[in-house]
Amino acid sequence: MVRRDEMRDGERAVATPPATDAGLVFIGRIHTPWQDRMECPRQGRADGPLCQIVIDDVWKDALKDIELYDRLEILYWLHRSRRDLVWQSPKSDGTTRGTFSLRSPVRPNPIGTSVVFVERVEGTTLFVRGLDCLDETPVIDIKPARESFVPLAPPTPGDAMTNA
Ligand code: SAM
Repeated sequence: MVRRDEMRDGERAVATPPATDAGLVFIGRIHTPWQDRMECPRQGRADGPLCQIVIDDVWKDALKDIELYDRLEILYWLHRSRRDLVWQSPKSDGTTRGTFSLRSPVRPNPIGTSVVFVERVEGTTLFVRGLDCLDETPVIDIKPARESFVPLAPPTPGDAMTNA
């Protein structure tokens, strides 16, 4: 994993295909104490610093009922990452792992996810713990944490399908 866009012994980059427009819309920004990737935690922790997820006003109605969940899954765009490494050396010792066997920020589509612990919601600002990203990181999506969510829509036939 690289932290300042450097390449380490054994790492491999590829010429990335041209980006296609997936139509992503950033819905807000995350505010954390970290201005430099070298300071960020590698993964957030439940007792980490209180951070703010500020959602753009246009999406305020989408926050209805958010307080039903004290754990949310946040998807964010690790906007300062390089995107071309296929082998990475997290230990900087010449040994490498493939990008898809890591949670490194360096990936073809630099999406980060964290389950955060919600302390409170004020208007369009969520006060949470458990993040690991730079200040001003764009937000892609917010969902209830998987383990605390039960689908509200009626089941489909596929829900009952097993491997039999
Ligand atoms: N928790 C997420 C996940 O597992 O998908 C992200 C984990 S990633 C290892 C966290 C690291 O990404 C941080 O330690 C920091 O080095 C880097 N990082 C954080 N915010 C970033 C940003 N906006 N752009 C690029 N790199 C970032």
